[in-house]
Amino acid sequence: MDKKAYFGKFGGQFVPETVMFALDELESAYESIASTAQFQAELDDLLKNYVGRPSPLYYAKRLSEHYGHKIYLKREDLNHTGAHKINNALAQALLAKKMGKKKIIAETGAGQHGVASATAAALLGLECDVYMGAVDIARQQLNAYRMQLLGANVVSIEDGLKTLKEATTAAIQAWVNEIESVFYVIGSAVGPHPYPKMVRDFQSIIGRETRSQLKDYGIKADYIIACVGGGSNAIGIFNEFLDDKDTELIGIEAGGLGANTPYHAATLTNGREGIIHGMKTMVLQDAYGMIEEVHSISAGLDYPGVGPQHAYLHDIKRVKYYAITDDECVNALRLTTRLEGIIPAIESSHALAYLEKLCPSLESKKTIVVNVSGRGDKDMDTIMGYEKGKIYG
Ligand SMILES: *Cc1c(COP(=O)(O)O)cnc(C)c1O
Repeated sequence: MDKKAYFGKFGGQFVPETVMFALDELESAYESIASTAQFQAELDDLLKNYVGRPSPLYYAKRLSEHYGHKIYLKREDLNHTGAHKINNALAQALLAKKMGKKKIIAETGAGQHGVASATAAALLGLECDVYMGAVDIARQQLNAYRMQLLGANVVSIEDGLKTLKEATTAAIQAWVNEIESVFYVIGSAVGPHPYPKMVRDFQSIIGRETRSQLKDYGIKADYIIACVGGGSNAIGIFNEFLDDKDTELIGIEAGGLGANTPYHAATLTNGREGIIHGMKTMVLQDAYGMIEEVHSISAGLDYPGVGPQHAYLHDIKRVKYYAITDDECVNALRLTTRLEGIIPAIESSHALAYLEKLCPSLESKKTIVVNVSGRGDKDMDTIMGYEKGKIYG
């Protein structure tokens, strides 16, 4: 067993032999190229001048007054394309280019990672195929169109439920078929080694900036809260603080209609050890090991697995994970919008909703950082539908 591929007992490379070749190639390219000063300088320049980093660590005055604690928002919503996903997509696309690949492929559910990958491909002059379930294409027409406008080829997947799980399987198959010339840009800190580590490292810019911004303000964080789908924005901010024993780290999963109902995506709350998309991790599965359907108002958190590092951090209790329901999430979105003039993504609103539970339980005044992983403009249809009584799943 290759220890580097694991976080405790989680992670690994549960893939067919044909994929091992590509993973080995990726690992050695990541180690030899991404660590060079030249790659880092090019990436830093793009993050600064193209993405608009560093993103502010914003003191949310009215939210702080409302809750009686000092609340800071890490504004990943202000990045180009409106979320943290661009940090990772751009870095992987740059690595692909340095490896001499002509084409990147990506899977997408709601389309956010597809848009980020298509954006990076346009910028760097790479071809881009985005695998998307036919049902998702119909639900997310605007994002599918954005990808096409950016020059990407949107490949419609007609298998199974025609959503993210089938799109991911199709993307992996396409990668195996053209393994010499294609780079698979994965959208979260998931999949076989080295993806979870590589994505974690590329997203750690969020935590490094947060640490230096806290230092500039002369304060320290008592709590850091982030939402967890696959777990890339959360691990991006948590990783830098894992050794800070007096900073509590809290990951928030999608509780859907309630983590105690069948309609949720609360993997760490309710899952069991299993294998999904090439990794050993916690998985929502039935008694026979069949992967269960997930439900959440938030397309970005609607995943039956979770990144293996989160499964490990949950196991050793370094990070605590809780579930927030659709209702709680929408209330938090409304409150943040009204009090701060910031419309957070419904994914990020899960993290904000936890303030409602945490704050009243704290005895003295605390400093709390919430990672606002993205902006909510993309979610207006969903919120309008929700107000009319539509139930999502
Ligand atoms: C995709 C997405 C997420 C969930 O992905 P992670 O890998 O868990 O970060 C969270 N927030 C936003 C805004 C997203 O687009």
